[in-house]
Amino acid sequence: MKGIIGIMEQQDAAATSTRPLGTVECGPPAPGPQVSIVTPMFNEEANVVRFCERLFAALGTISESYEVICVDDGSRDRTLELLKREQIVRKNMTVVVLARNFGQHAAVMAGLAASRGDWVITLDADLQNPPEEIPRIVEAFRQGHDLVGTIRTGRQDPLFRKWASRFTNRLVTRISGISLQDFGSMLRGYSREVVQGILANPEFRTFIPALSTFFARKSVEIPVRHEERAGGTSKYSLLKLFSLQLDLVTGFSLWPLRALFFVGTGMAGLGIGLALLILSFRLYYGSGWAAEGVFTLFAILFCFVGAQFLALGLVGEYVGRIFQAVRRRPPYILSEIRRNGPFMP
Ligand code: UDP
Ligand code: MG
Repeated sequence: MKGIIGIMEQQDAAATSTRPLGTVECGPPAPGPQVSIVTPMFNEEANVVRFCERLFAALGTISESYEVICVDDGSRDRTLELLKREQIVRKNMTVVVLARNFGQHAAVMAGLAASRGDWVITLDADLQNPPEEIPRIVEAFRQGHDLVGTIRTGRQDPLFRKWASRFTNRLVTRISGISLQDFGSMLRGYSREVVQGILANPEFRTFIPALSTFFARKSVEIPVRHEERAGGTSKYSLLKLFSLQLDLVTGFSLWPLRALFFVGTGMAGLGIGLALLILSFRLYYGSGWAAEGVFTLFAILFCFVGAQFLALGLVGEYVGRIFQAVRRRPPYILSEIRRNGPFMP
C-alpha cells in the first residue's frame, strides 16, 4: 500500500484509529503529550543514533510528557532502518515515512501533522541544534509564549552561509515586514494553535519559520548554541540554498514585483533618453559617427535584454506559485506512520 496519495497510518497492535485515504490529517487524534519533538531526516545515517541518545537524554530533564517524531524524507541510506531500531528501545517515538524526498520544510510539515503535543519543537537531525537547548524552549512556553524562535550564537557554518543568512534576514525583514533575527534557525517551538494555523495553510514550498509568525500572538527569540554538523554533509547545495532564499522572498512578499515595475520604468526612461542623445549626435556629427557607435548600441541592447529576462523570470516565479496553489497538490506524500503505541506518559 505504499505511495498512495493521502494519509495512511500503519500502526502497531496498540493502534487507535485508521484515517480514510485522501484526507488531510490536521490535528491530534487522541489526547497527546505536552511536548512533541519533530525532526526531518534526509540521509542522516551518520547521526541517527547519536541524535536519539542526546535528544532522549535532554527530554529526560523536563517534567512535561513528550513524544518524538522523526520524519524520514525519502532517505536513500540506512536512516529508516536505524530509526526503526531506535523505535524498539525508545518509548513514545513515531517514525513518519515520506514516499520520496520532498525537502526539509515539507518534511517538517508532515511531522507537524503527526504531532499531538501542546507545544511542538522542531530541530535538525545533524546536531547543529543542540538538543540540550530544548528545556530552555520549554521554559519560554511555560512563561506563556506561543512561538519560540532561536538565534544561533557562535554559528558553525561556512563563511558564505553566514553571510547569506545575514543578507536574507535583513532583506526578508525589510520587504515582508516579518521581524525575525534568525530565519534559518530550525530549532523552534510552536504552540498547538500556531501548528494548526500552519497546517491549515499548506502553501507550496513554504518557509515554516516565516509562515508561523503570522499565527503567533506572543513570540520570543532566544539565543542558543550552534554546533558543527556531527556527521555526514549538508543536504543543501548552493542551488538548493538559492531556491530556498527565492521561496522565502517571493513566498512572503510582492515587493520584488513592485521593484521590477520601478526598474522597468527607469530603464524605459533611460532608453528614451539614450535614443534621443544618439539621434542628436547623429544629426550633429553625421552618419560616420553613427557607424562607430555600433558596439555601444549593442552594449545598451544587451543591458535591456538582460533586464527583460530577469523580469520575465521573476514574473514566472509568481505565476508558478499561483499554478501550484491552483493545482492544490499536497506538499508531501506519506508512505506510512509508524507509532510505537499510543502515547504513554
Ligand atoms: N533535510 C530534509 N530533507 C531535505 C534536506 C534536509 O529532511 O531535502 C533535513 C536534514 O536531514 C537535517 C535538516 O533538514 O535534519 C537540515 O539539513 P542540513 O543540515 O543539510 O541543512 P544546513 O544545516 O546545511 O542548512
Ligand atoms: Mg545542518
